[in-house]
Amino acid sequence: MSENTVRTTKKQKRKFPGAEQICDIVIKAVFFFAFPAAWSAGFAGVKYLGERIHSGEPVEMSTFLAMLLALAAFTMVFGRFFCSRACAFGTYGDVLYAVFHWKKRGPGRPGSKQMIPDAAASKLRYVKYGILVLVCALCILGFSSQVAGSSPWTFFSQLVALKPKLGGTAGIVGLVLFVICSIGMAAEKRAFCRFLCPFGAVFSILPVLPFSMVQRKQKECIKGCRACANVCPARLDLPYSDIGGSTKAASADTAAAETAKYQFSMGECFGCSKCARICPKQNAGCATMKKGGKGIAWDIVKAVILAGLLTVAAGV
Ligand code: SF4
Ligand code: SF4
Ligand code: SF4
Repeated sequence: MSENTVRTTKKQKRKFPGAEQICDIVIKAVFFFAFPAAWSAGFAGVKYLGERIHSGEPVEMSTFLAMLLALAAFTMVFGRFFCSRACAFGTYGDVLYAVFHWKKRGPGRPGSKQMIPDAAASKLRYVKYGILVLVCALCILGFSSQVAGSSPWTFFSQLVALKPKLGGTAGIVGLVLFVICSIGMAAEKRAFCRFLCPFGAVFSILPVLPFSMVQRKQKECIKGCRACANVCPARLDLPYSDIGGSTKAASADTAAAETAKYQFSMGECFGCSKCARICPKQNAGCATMKKGGKGIAWDIVKAVILAGLLTVAAGV
């Protein structure tokens, strides 16, 4: 292997910074216990808008709508930090995955293999848009009350609040879906988030300000390196910021098309910082996602801003 060619080696995995992981765990724990229902409340804002379209009544500010607006605005400025650190259901999935892969690979180690091939995963991710359209359609057509309480996230919110409701068809459907989603998240990293979450579908189509868009520079990349793609829970190829495409591109047109494809996919980015942390040349990331101390400082800033927004929204 030449000096300019690296792979994700065991040595590289061991270098994964402990302080950054500890910061992640603390932030996740704080949000899990302080804002366990932020996700379901925010998505209730989406359903509320659909119900208002059905009823023809004017949209009024409510806690649910305020949560939706706060999360959407935050995501457009800082990317999907909420998904990587603050969503209780995402954290639940991370814990499940880490527990079920503890013996084999270590807890959430970079480079852990995924069961679903990348080609299939890139198609499966569109399922969540179908679910989002279905939920919106049910609300707009006036069926929201018939399916209320039958979602896995509703059951999860009840479980976190230690008040699971198992009565009725809706409760049982919610429980069954919750168990299926849990099995999926234990087997495949962020499976629910990548393939099924309708709120994740909302986040993934939101525009993100350039300083929070994760990229890399082609001229800085090490030949043959795929460490950032291998560690990415969404299996993303980062777009290049310095040219119109990848090294594999045969022409300027092909390069531009590849970059457009990568940038389109970046809505799937959870903002987890794993690519920035693993890159041996500190070449992956963005202004608000760095490796080391700057990354920790930015994560704390984002967490404080998000907590403030959610607190204000919850009080509406
Ligand atoms: S994709 Fe959905 S479940 Fe996953 S972290 Fe984001 S909001 Fe939460
Ligand atoms: S950005 Fe870093 S980790 Fe990703 S391919 Fe380039 S050198 Fe490797
Ligand atoms: S921050 Fe990097 S590793 Fe994490 S999801 Fe986004 S591209 Fe993938």
